[in-house]
Amino acid sequence: MANVLWMHGGACNGNTQSFLNAEEPTVIDLITDFGINILYHHSLSMEFGDQVHRLFDQILNDEVPLDIFVFEGTVIQGPNGTGHYDMLFDRPKKDWILEFAKKAQYVVAVGDCACWGGIPATKPNPSESTGLQYLKEERGGFLGSHFRSKAGLPVINIPGCPIHPDWVSQVLVAVATGRVGDVQLDDLQRPQTFFKTFTHSGCTRNQFFEWKEPVEEFGQGTRKGCLFYEQGCRGPMTRSSCNRILWNRQSSKTRAGMPCIGCTEPQFPYFDLAPGTVFKTQKVLGSIPKEVPTGTDPLSYSVNAAMARTVAPKLAKEDMFVP
Ligand code: SF4
Ligand code: SF4
Repeated sequence: MANVLWMHGGACNGNTQSFLNAEEPTVIDLITDFGINILYHHSLSMEFGDQVHRLFDQILNDEVPLDIFVFEGTVIQGPNGTGHYDMLFDRPKKDWILEFAKKAQYVVAVGDCACWGGIPATKPNPSESTGLQYLKEERGGFLGSHFRSKAGLPVINIPGCPIHPDWVSQVLVAVATGRVGDVQLDDLQRPQTFFKTFTHSGCTRNQFFEWKEPVEEFGQGTRKGCLFYEQGCRGPMTRSSCNRILWNRQSSKTRAGMPCIGCTEPQFPYFDLAPGTVFKTQKVLGSIPKEVPTGTDPLSYSVNAAMARTVAPKLAKEDMFVP
Protein backbone atom coordinates (compact mmCIF):
# COMPACT_ATOMS: atom_id res chain seq x y z
CA MET A 1 0.00 0.00 0.00
CA ALA A 2 1.32 3.46 -0.91
CA ASN A 3 -0.34 6.63 0.35
CA VAL A 4 -0.56 9.28 -2.37
CA LEU A 5 -1.36 12.95 -1.93
CA TRP A 6 -1.98 14.76 -5.25
CA MET A 7 -2.09 18.56 -5.14
CA HIS A 8 -2.22 21.23 -7.78
CA GLY A 9 -0.87 24.76 -8.00
CA GLY A 10 -1.04 27.08 -11.01
CA ALA A 11 -2.51 24.61 -13.45
CA CYS A 12 -5.20 23.95 -16.05
CA ASN A 13 -5.80 20.46 -14.60
CA GLY A 14 -4.93 18.94 -17.98
CA ASN A 15 -2.57 16.40 -16.44
CA THR A 16 -5.31 15.04 -14.22
CA GLN A 17 -7.61 14.78 -17.23
CA SER A 18 -4.92 12.92 -19.12
CA PHE A 19 -4.08 10.67 -16.15
CA LEU A 20 -7.71 9.50 -16.02
CA ASN A 21 -7.18 8.00 -19.50
CA ALA A 22 -4.33 5.76 -18.34
CA GLU A 23 -4.59 2.29 -19.81
CA GLU A 24 -1.60 0.27 -18.70
CA PRO A 25 -2.43 0.27 -15.86
CA THR A 26 -5.68 2.18 -15.51
CA VAL A 27 -6.40 4.42 -12.54
CA ILE A 28 -8.79 1.73 -11.21
CA ASP A 29 -6.03 -0.90 -11.56
CA LEU A 30 -3.71 1.35 -9.58
CA ILE A 31 -6.15 1.34 -6.68
CA THR A 32 -7.43 -2.24 -6.80
CA ASP A 33 -4.31 -4.15 -7.92
CA PHE A 34 -1.26 -2.05 -7.12
CA GLY A 35 -2.06 -0.73 -3.66
CA ILE A 36 -2.24 2.96 -4.51
CA ASN A 37 -4.23 4.66 -1.78
CA ILE A 38 -5.20 8.17 -2.84
CA LEU A 39 -5.39 10.13 0.39
CA TYR A 40 -6.57 13.22 -1.43
CA HIS A 41 -6.83 14.49 -4.97
CA HIS A 42 -8.19 17.98 -5.61
CA SER A 43 -10.59 16.85 -8.38
CA LEU A 44 -11.35 13.23 -7.54
CA SER A 45 -11.75 13.09 -3.76
CA MET A 46 -15.09 13.34 -2.00
CA GLU A 47 -13.56 15.10 1.01
CA PHE A 48 -13.49 18.87 1.16
CA GLY A 49 -13.10 21.76 3.59
CA ASP A 50 -12.37 20.76 7.19
CA GLN A 51 -11.98 17.09 6.28
CA VAL A 52 -9.09 17.92 3.99
CA HIS A 53 -7.57 20.36 6.45
CA ARG A 54 -7.64 17.64 9.13
CA LEU A 55 -5.96 15.16 6.78
CA PHE A 56 -3.24 17.69 5.93
CA ASP A 57 -2.57 18.24 9.63
CA GLN A 58 -2.43 14.49 10.23
CA ILE A 59 0.19 14.11 7.51
CA LEU A 60 2.29 16.92 8.88
CA ASN A 61 1.97 15.51 12.42
CA ASP A 62 3.17 12.08 11.24
CA GLU A 63 -0.19 10.47 12.05
CA VAL A 64 -0.67 9.51 8.40
CA PRO A 65 2.43 8.44 6.43
CA LEU A 66 2.96 10.08 3.06
CA ASP A 67 4.63 7.81 0.52
CA ILE A 68 4.20 9.77 -2.70
CA PHE A 69 3.56 13.49 -3.05
CA VAL A 70 2.35 14.18 -6.58
CA PHE A 71 2.28 17.81 -7.62
CA GLU A 72 0.65 19.25 -10.75
CA GLY A 73 0.96 22.90 -11.79
CA THR A 74 3.36 25.63 -10.83
CA VAL A 75 4.32 26.80 -7.39
CA ILE A 76 2.91 30.33 -7.29
CA GLN A 77 5.19 32.63 -5.31
CA GLY A 78 3.69 36.02 -6.16
CA PRO A 79 3.20 38.76 -5.29
CA ASN A 80 6.73 39.60 -4.21
CA GLY A 81 7.47 36.11 -2.92
CA THR A 82 4.56 36.01 -0.47
CA GLY A 83 2.52 33.31 -2.27
CA HIS A 84 -0.68 35.24 -1.51
CA TYR A 85 -1.94 34.78 -5.05
CA ASP A 86 -2.62 31.10 -4.23
CA MET A 87 -3.93 30.50 -0.70
CA LEU A 88 -5.16 27.28 0.89
CA PHE A 89 -6.66 27.15 4.38
CA ASP A 90 -5.44 30.66 5.13
CA ARG A 91 -1.84 29.85 4.22
CA PRO A 92 0.07 30.37 0.99
CA LYS A 93 -0.15 27.04 -0.81
CA LYS A 94 3.60 27.15 -1.35
CA ASP A 95 4.06 26.62 2.40
CA TRP A 96 1.95 23.45 2.30
CA ILE A 97 3.90 22.25 -0.72
CA LEU A 98 7.24 22.72 1.04
CA GLU A 99 6.09 20.80 4.11
CA PHE A 100 4.58 17.91 2.13
CA ALA A 101 7.70 17.62 0.00
CA LYS A 102 9.77 17.24 3.16
CA LYS A 103 7.42 14.58 4.57
CA ALA A 104 7.11 12.42 1.46
CA GLN A 105 9.21 9.39 0.65
CA TYR A 106 8.99 10.38 -3.03
CA VAL A 107 8.03 13.61 -4.79
CA VAL A 108 6.71 13.38 -8.33
CA ALA A 109 6.22 16.48 -10.53
CA VAL A 110 3.53 15.84 -13.11
CA GLY A 111 3.42 18.00 -16.25
CA ASP A 112 5.58 20.87 -17.50
CA CYS A 113 4.30 23.40 -14.98
CA ALA A 114 5.32 21.29 -11.98
CA CYS A 115 8.62 20.27 -13.60
CA TRP A 116 9.87 23.55 -15.08
CA GLY A 117 7.19 26.20 -14.65
CA GLY A 118 5.72 25.63 -18.12
CA ILE A 119 3.59 28.33 -19.73
CA PRO A 120 2.82 30.27 -16.49
CA ALA A 121 6.54 30.78 -15.80
CA THR A 122 7.16 32.22 -19.24
CA LYS A 123 8.33 35.83 -19.08
CA PRO A 124 7.08 38.17 -17.70
CA ASN A 125 5.76 35.50 -15.27
CA PRO A 126 3.35 37.74 -13.32
CA SER A 127 2.45 35.00 -10.81
CA GLU A 128 6.15 34.38 -10.04
CA SER A 129 5.58 30.75 -10.92
CA THR A 130 8.27 28.10 -10.81
CA GLY A 131 8.60 24.34 -11.08
CA LEU A 132 9.36 22.20 -8.05
CA GLN A 133 13.07 21.75 -8.74
CA TYR A 134 13.63 23.66 -11.99
CA LEU A 135 12.76 27.04 -13.41
CA LYS A 136 12.84 26.33 -17.11
CA GLU A 137 16.24 24.65 -17.72
CA GLU A 138 17.81 26.10 -14.60
CA ARG A 139 18.09 23.66 -11.70
CA GLY A 140 16.80 24.95 -8.35
CA GLY A 141 13.19 25.95 -8.71
CA PHE A 142 11.09 26.09 -5.55
CA LEU A 143 12.71 23.31 -3.53
CA GLY A 144 16.31 24.09 -4.46
CA SER A 145 18.84 22.01 -6.34
CA HIS A 146 19.92 20.07 -3.23
CA PHE A 147 16.45 18.88 -2.29
CA ARG A 148 16.07 15.14 -1.75
CA SER A 149 12.90 13.41 -0.60
CA LYS A 150 13.00 11.11 2.42
CA ALA A 151 13.91 8.15 0.22
CA GLY A 152 16.93 10.10 -1.04
CA LEU A 153 15.76 10.98 -4.55
CA PRO A 154 15.38 14.38 -6.18
CA VAL A 155 11.98 15.28 -7.59
CA ILE A 156 11.00 12.76 -10.26
CA ASN A 157 10.07 14.92 -13.25
CA ILE A 158 7.38 13.64 -15.63
CA PRO A 159 7.00 16.49 -18.11
CA GLY A 160 4.52 16.95 -20.93
CA CYS A 161 1.73 19.36 -21.74
CA PRO A 162 -0.11 17.26 -20.82
CA ILE A 163 1.71 14.13 -19.66
CA HIS A 164 1.10 10.84 -21.36
CA PRO A 165 -1.06 9.07 -18.76
CA ASP A 166 0.90 5.82 -18.75
CA TRP A 167 4.13 7.66 -17.92
CA VAL A 168 2.60 8.60 -14.56
CA SER A 169 0.72 5.40 -13.81
CA GLN A 170 3.80 3.27 -14.49
CA VAL A 171 6.02 5.41 -12.29
CA LEU A 172 3.44 5.21 -9.49
CA VAL A 173 3.40 1.41 -9.84
CA ALA A 174 7.20 1.28 -9.68
CA VAL A 175 7.18 3.28 -6.46
CA ALA A 176 4.26 1.40 -4.91
CA THR A 177 5.76 -2.03 -5.65
CA GLY A 178 9.21 -1.17 -4.38
CA ARG A 179 10.80 -1.15 -7.86
CA VAL A 180 11.64 2.53 -7.86
CA GLY A 181 15.31 1.50 -7.95
CA ASP A 182 14.64 0.50 -11.56
CA VAL A 183 13.61 4.07 -12.42
CA GLN A 184 16.81 5.62 -13.78
CA LEU A 185 16.61 9.39 -14.17
CA ASP A 186 18.25 11.45 -16.90
CA ASP A 187 20.10 14.72 -16.29
CA LEU A 188 16.76 16.57 -16.10
CA GLN A 189 15.46 14.04 -13.55
CA ARG A 190 13.09 12.40 -16.05
CA PRO A 191 12.65 8.59 -16.04
CA GLN A 192 14.86 7.30 -18.83
CA THR A 193 12.36 4.62 -19.78
CA PHE A 194 10.14 7.31 -21.23
CA PHE A 195 12.56 10.12 -22.06
CA LYS A 196 15.78 8.55 -23.30
CA THR A 197 14.77 8.44 -26.96
CA PHE A 198 13.45 11.20 -29.19
CA THR A 199 9.83 11.65 -30.27
CA HIS A 200 11.25 10.93 -33.72
CA SER A 201 11.86 7.26 -32.69
CA GLY A 202 8.99 5.22 -34.04
CA CYS A 203 7.43 8.03 -36.08
CA THR A 204 5.82 6.60 -39.17
CA ARG A 205 7.18 9.51 -41.22
CA ASN A 206 10.81 8.54 -40.69
CA GLN A 207 11.35 7.38 -44.27
CA PHE A 208 10.36 10.86 -45.48
CA PHE A 209 12.65 12.46 -42.93
CA GLU A 210 15.57 10.39 -44.25
CA TRP A 211 14.95 11.49 -47.84
CA LYS A 212 14.04 15.07 -46.89
CA GLU A 213 10.55 14.90 -48.30
CA PRO A 214 8.37 17.58 -46.68
CA VAL A 215 4.66 17.57 -46.11
CA GLU A 216 3.36 20.83 -47.50
CA GLU A 217 0.30 21.60 -45.40
CA PHE A 218 -0.21 21.60 -41.68
CA GLY A 219 -2.49 18.79 -40.52
CA GLN A 220 -2.37 16.98 -43.84
CA GLY A 221 -4.07 13.70 -43.05
CA THR A 222 -2.06 11.49 -45.38
CA ARG A 223 1.04 9.74 -44.13
CA LYS A 224 3.13 11.35 -46.85
CA GLY A 225 6.00 13.65 -45.99
CA CYS A 226 7.83 14.71 -42.86
CA LEU A 227 6.73 17.64 -40.70
CA PHE A 228 10.30 18.77 -39.91
CA TYR A 229 10.97 20.74 -43.06
CA GLU A 230 8.05 23.16 -43.16
CA GLN A 231 5.82 22.57 -40.13
CA GLY A 232 8.38 23.04 -37.35
CA CYS A 233 8.31 19.47 -36.00
CA ARG A 234 10.62 19.19 -33.01
CA GLY A 235 10.61 15.38 -32.95
CA PRO A 236 14.37 15.06 -33.57
CA MET A 237 15.15 17.51 -30.73
CA THR A 238 12.62 16.36 -28.12
CA ARG A 239 12.94 13.48 -25.68
CA SER A 240 9.65 11.59 -25.37
CA SER A 241 8.21 8.16 -26.10
CA CYS A 242 5.10 9.46 -27.88
CA ASN A 243 5.76 7.32 -30.96
CA ARG A 244 6.71 4.22 -28.95
CA ILE A 245 3.92 4.27 -26.35
CA LEU A 246 1.05 5.50 -28.44
CA TRP A 247 -1.61 7.82 -27.07
CA ASN A 248 -4.84 5.93 -26.39
CA ARG A 249 -2.84 2.94 -27.69
CA GLN A 250 -3.70 4.22 -31.18
CA SER A 251 -1.82 7.22 -32.43
CA SER A 252 0.48 10.17 -31.85
CA LYS A 253 0.62 13.78 -32.93
CA THR A 254 2.98 13.19 -35.80
CA ARG A 255 0.99 10.18 -37.03
CA ALA A 256 -2.06 12.41 -37.12
CA GLY A 257 -0.26 15.14 -39.08
CA MET A 258 0.51 17.44 -36.17
CA PRO A 259 4.15 18.44 -35.57
CA CYS A 260 5.73 17.69 -32.22
CA ILE A 261 6.00 21.04 -30.43
CA GLY A 262 8.56 19.82 -27.93
CA CYS A 263 6.37 19.83 -24.86
CA THR A 264 8.60 17.59 -22.72
CA GLU A 265 11.58 19.94 -22.79
CA PRO A 266 12.14 22.74 -20.25
CA GLN A 267 12.28 25.43 -22.95
CA PHE A 268 8.68 24.73 -24.00
CA PRO A 269 6.63 26.68 -25.16
CA TYR A 270 9.52 28.27 -27.10
CA PHE A 271 7.93 31.72 -27.10
CA ASP A 272 11.34 33.11 -28.00
CA LEU A 273 10.55 32.04 -31.57
CA ALA A 274 8.88 34.72 -33.65
CA PRO A 275 5.21 35.00 -32.64
CA GLY A 276 2.81 32.98 -34.74
CA THR A 277 5.48 30.74 -36.19
CA VAL A 278 5.40 27.79 -33.80
CA PHE A 279 4.09 25.54 -36.55
CA LYS A 280 6.52 26.88 -39.12
CA THR A 281 10.11 25.75 -39.50
CA GLN A 282 12.49 28.65 -38.90
CA LYS A 283 15.09 28.95 -41.67
CA VAL A 284 18.38 30.72 -42.17
CA LEU A 285 19.63 31.79 -45.60
CA GLY A 286 16.24 30.89 -47.02
CA SER A 287 16.35 27.12 -46.74
CA ILE A 288 18.59 25.85 -43.94
CA PRO A 289 16.57 24.91 -40.82
CA LYS A 290 17.59 27.16 -37.92
CA GLU A 291 17.32 24.23 -35.53
CA VAL A 292 18.57 20.86 -36.66
CA PRO A 293 18.35 17.39 -35.06
CA THR A 294 20.24 17.13 -31.78
CA GLY A 295 23.82 16.04 -32.37
CA THR A 296 24.45 17.79 -35.69
CA ASP A 297 24.99 21.35 -36.91
CA PRO A 298 23.05 23.39 -39.50
CA LEU A 299 25.75 23.37 -42.17
CA SER A 300 26.60 19.66 -42.24
CA TYR A 301 22.94 18.85 -41.83
CA SER A 302 22.06 20.94 -44.87
CA VAL A 303 24.78 19.40 -47.03
CA ASN A 304 23.50 15.96 -46.09
CA ALA A 305 19.89 17.06 -46.75
CA ALA A 306 20.72 18.38 -50.21
CA MET A 307 22.41 15.10 -51.16
CA ALA A 308 19.57 12.98 -49.79
CA ARG A 309 17.01 15.02 -51.69
CA THR A 310 18.97 14.57 -54.91
CA VAL A 311 19.19 10.78 -54.68
CA ALA A 312 15.79 10.15 -53.07
CA PRO A 313 14.17 6.96 -54.39
CA LYS A 314 10.61 6.78 -55.68
CA LEU A 315 9.31 5.48 -52.36
CA ALA A 316 10.20 8.81 -50.75
CA LYS A 317 7.35 10.39 -52.67
CA GLU A 318 4.76 7.67 -52.14
CA ASP A 319 1.99 7.62 -49.61
CA MET A 320 2.51 5.24 -46.74
CA PHE A 321 -0.21 2.99 -45.46
CA VAL A 322 -0.60 3.08 -41.71
CA PRO A 323 -3.51 1.08 -40.28
S1 SF4 B 1 7.31 14.18 -38.55
FE1 SF4 B 1 8.71 14.85 -36.88
S2 SF4 B 1 8.99 13.04 -35.60
FE2 SF4 B 1 8.14 12.33 -37.55
S3 SF4 B 1 9.90 11.79 -38.83
FE3 SF4 B 1 9.41 13.93 -39.28
S4 SF4 B 1 10.71 15.11 -37.85
FE4 SF4 B 1 10.66 13.01 -37.07
S1 SF4 C 1 4.56 14.57 -29.75
FE1 SF4 C 1 5.89 16.17 -28.88
S2 SF4 C 1 4.47 17.87 -28.37
FE2 SF4 C 1 3.23 16.02 -28.66
S3 SF4 C 1 3.00 15.14 -26.61
FE3 SF4 C 1 4.79 14.14 -27.54
S4 SF4 C 1 6.55 15.39 -26.88
FE4 SF4 C 1 4.71 16.61 -26.52
